[in-house]
Amino acid sequence: MNEPYKYVLPESELPKAWYNINADMPVPPAPVLHPATREPVTPDFLSVLFPMSLIMQEMSPERWVEIPEPVREIYKLWRPTPLFRARRLEKALDTPARIYYKYEGVSPVGSHKPNTAVAQAFFNKQEGTKALTTETGAGQWGSALAMACSFFDLDLEVYMVKISYEQKPYRRVLMQTYGAQVFASPTDRTHYGRRLLEEEPDNPGSLGIAISEAVEAAATSGGRKKYSLGSVLNHVLMHQTVIGLEALQQLEAAGDYPDLVVGCVGGGSNFAGLAYPFVHRNLTQGATTRIVAVEPASCPSLTRGSYAFDYGDTAGTAPIVKMYTLGHTFVPPGIHAGGLRYHGMAPSVSALVEHGTIEARAVPQLATFEAATTFARAEGIVPAPESAHAIRVVIDEALRCKESGERRVIAFNLSGHGHFDMAAYDAFQRGALEDYAYPAEAIEAAMTQLPAVAF
Ligand SMILES: *Cc1c(COP(=O)(O)O)cnc(C)c1O
Repeated sequence: MNEPYKYVLPESELPKAWYNINADMPVPPAPVLHPATREPVTPDFLSVLFPMSLIMQEMSPERWVEIPEPVREIYKLWRPTPLFRARRLEKALDTPARIYYKYEGVSPVGSHKPNTAVAQAFFNKQEGTKALTTETGAGQWGSALAMACSFFDLDLEVYMVKISYEQKPYRRVLMQTYGAQVFASPTDRTHYGRRLLEEEPDNPGSLGIAISEAVEAAATSGGRKKYSLGSVLNHVLMHQTVIGLEALQQLEAAGDYPDLVVGCVGGGSNFAGLAYPFVHRNLTQGATTRIVAVEPASCPSLTRGSYAFDYGDTAGTAPIVKMYTLGHTFVPPGIHAGGLRYHGMAPSVSALVEHGTIEARAVPQLATFEAATTFARAEGIVPAPESAHAIRVVIDEALRCKESGERRVIAFNLSGHGHFDMAAYDAFQRGALEDYAYPAEAIEAAMTQLPAVAF
């Protein structure tokens, strides 16, 4: 028996270019609109927030975009990441399905997020940016960007959702260890934050509020600071495609090609990172892989939201994009998969769901922790609660294969480990976790706040 458990690539096989789905989109892109005029934005407007190289990537029609050598050098600290064959999970489920997972938890901060953080820090440094501003919910994105900024000698201001700042001190310490400044949002550092604190001194914050503060801090800095976003935008999803490009090579080494590719979705970046290179083969080479995006039932933008133009942030100062949204004023229940609590979804993922290229599923919180526990006991890795949403669907599909006897090949993205999420596992084990009801009324109320646009 010489059946491998994992497929590893040498550093020399690290991809040299990112894959840009803009080149293959089956539908034309919707315009990005200015939040005040509601007319299509110009690169000039975006350049207040982003360096020109990233704006060009955002709009680029080129299928392949070269990964700069300094970025590849840093990627090599943990990339290529391993592709595992989940043999022990297959056995535990007694399924004929073959299950593979790409493990992004081997990065220094434990998730896929440095794949774009390092690239964004590099392009900002190259264009003379002195400092970055960003938001973070549970702290995964903030810690990835903090590491990247320390590598490129950039200052970083992190606006961290206040409730997480108070409940997750270790993520804050991690960011500070890399040299970042971390503030509990809403803060008194911005107009918007001060206004909210006047109305409600105990405001617990939300991701949308923290984005508004980070955007304001960059926009009012006279060009010294730029803003950085960890998901949703085209260039972010593109940077993550190293995941899927490596997986293609690794699956080839395993002699398999997936019938099904699964990822969890918050803003869509880890999902797109694994899935888009397979979507590319579906769209251009006649492959027929089913591609499934999994979201929490309590923040169901793809399965219960509207495909509409909406603001990227709560204050309505970020650009308006066409996406599946629950309304920019919607504040989702406090589920433990903090990375999946965004009101919208990446425009390209949204367009592909609308077009029928990608399927969407929603799963409840308790069932995801049950799946996470099954996975940990079989494979040893304790998954991030976000990633466990993908695992829930993979296990369900593998059990379906058991019933039908089909030997399907399933690949999913294990976007991170759960070592910083022990409080959530503790709550699950104590029986203190709940399934939140679908927040129909809150969503309905938020949907009345969508901007009226002429497009
Ligand atoms: C942030 C995060 C997510 C969700 O963000 P996406 O942009 O949708 O990938 C998922 N998994 C982990 C481990 C995360 O840290």
